[in-house]
Amino acid sequence: MKLSKYILSTDSLEEVGLNNKRIIFSTRSATSILIENEIFDNLSNGNFNSVAPELLTVLNEKEFLVPIEQDEFEHIISTNKGVKDASNFLSMTIQPSANCQLGCGYCGQNHSKHYASDSVIEKYYERIVYLLSQKKYEGISITWYGGEPLTGYSAIKKTSKKLIQLAEERGLKYVSDMITNGLSLKPSLFKELAEECKVTHYQITLDGNAESHDQRRFTKTGDPTFDIITKNIIDVTSMKEYYDNRCHISIRVNIDKTNYQYVDPLIDFIKDTGLQRKISMYFATIVDFGGNDAGKDSLQKNFFAEKEIEWLLRCYENNINMNVMPKRTYSVCMAEKKDSEVFDAFGNIYACWEFPYSDVYGAGDSLIGNLFFPKETYNENATLRDWNEMLQSGKTWCKTCTHLPICGGGCPKSWVEGTPACPPFKSNYKDKLLLDYFIRKQSEQGATNTFA
Ligand code: SF4
Ligand code: SF4
Repeated sequence: MKLSKYILSTDSLEEVGLNNKRIIFSTRSATSILIENEIFDNLSNGNFNSVAPELLTVLNEKEFLVPIEQDEFEHIISTNKGVKDASNFLSMTIQPSANCQLGCGYCGQNHSKHYASDSVIEKYYERIVYLLSQKKYEGISITWYGGEPLTGYSAIKKTSKKLIQLAEERGLKYVSDMITNGLSLKPSLFKELAEECKVTHYQITLDGNAESHDQRRFTKTGDPTFDIITKNIIDVTSMKEYYDNRCHISIRVNIDKTNYQYVDPLIDFIKDTGLQRKISMYFATIVDFGGNDAGKDSLQKNFFAEKEIEWLLRCYENNINMNVMPKRTYSVCMAEKKDSEVFDAFGNIYACWEFPYSDVYGAGDSLIGNLFFPKETYNENATLRDWNEMLQSGKTWCKTCTHLPICGGGCPKSWVEGTPACPPFKSNYKDKLLLDYFIRKQSEQGATNTFA
């Protein structure tokens, strides 16, 4: 055996009282272990005989140690392929509305008052029936995206009814989630979405507290939205239906130089309004959207990574759910899954949910086809579908990157646009390993949430 090349390590942890120790992390198994420096040196030097057999067994199981002859990159690629081939959920994204009430400066979409008509809905249905006939599936997963999907609520309701019935007839599971701006997510609408349309997971964006959010995520007529959206979140998460249907709201915070100062106040707002434990939070950088220069105010990657640790710690201290560590990623996103498609309100089909309604990606090579045309006319090699070949060709940094098994390449669209898609974890993994270690330690000890 040999030490895997897919291992990350903290420095020696004297500063936090863990003398002569470090945390090592296998990106192949997404597992971390606290280990003595001396043992790590022995492993690095191939002195496996000096390491206790019980520990060697664990290191083997968790893929820190791998067969000596194994080409690890090829192994990762073929394991990913196996998992993707075995995947038995048909995952589709539907963007039933080309409209959105908001006028966010960083959005790269062209909005129009166009919603999926009954004939388009029928085409969604026919295409899904066709795809279900191509492989044995156990379930259907639908993500609703926009424009703002709730401006096309009538189409969501009609499509969900047909697909839920289809799933029932065929004994398939049915799951659904939604990316929404939250402006229309009133309790009565939420109840229908959760109970009739089976939409249980929601992602809602808040760009800092009201002072910051309202400067960025205002309506097309310039009106503020923070108070309306947060009232909706508070109301919805207080409902019995939120718990009965195991619903979850994840709050995304889009961050750049102009609003990073307002993330702490947002975290405090979440706590002060009692939303902690009812929602989760995560933090994202703003990037260009097909050359719209939205990323012109992006924070330096390292600075964002440093701030992210502070925000995660603040969330933890305030009992707000968040994820510190990445998981093993077998598929980077829908773009590389041939049976995963995005439908827009006009019946266009794409491989990436950022393509519809965009000047740059709306037509041409990015378009797979249109549901009103025969499938023989569809472009199987539409933009991004070749992500695996791109990965293997070494055109991106991913082929030689230690993070590949947990990252998968970040975002293929970003690489195609010439922007490395490396997530903050690449810059702040040492801090995250330590934060994760202390969180797990404290939860084992049942201690209160403070590192003091
Ligand atoms: S390519 Fe990027 S933007 Fe498109 S679906 Fe994948 S992760 Fe999302
Ligand atoms: S996107 Fe960056 S961090 Fe992810 S695998 Fe590629 S090079 Fe590594």
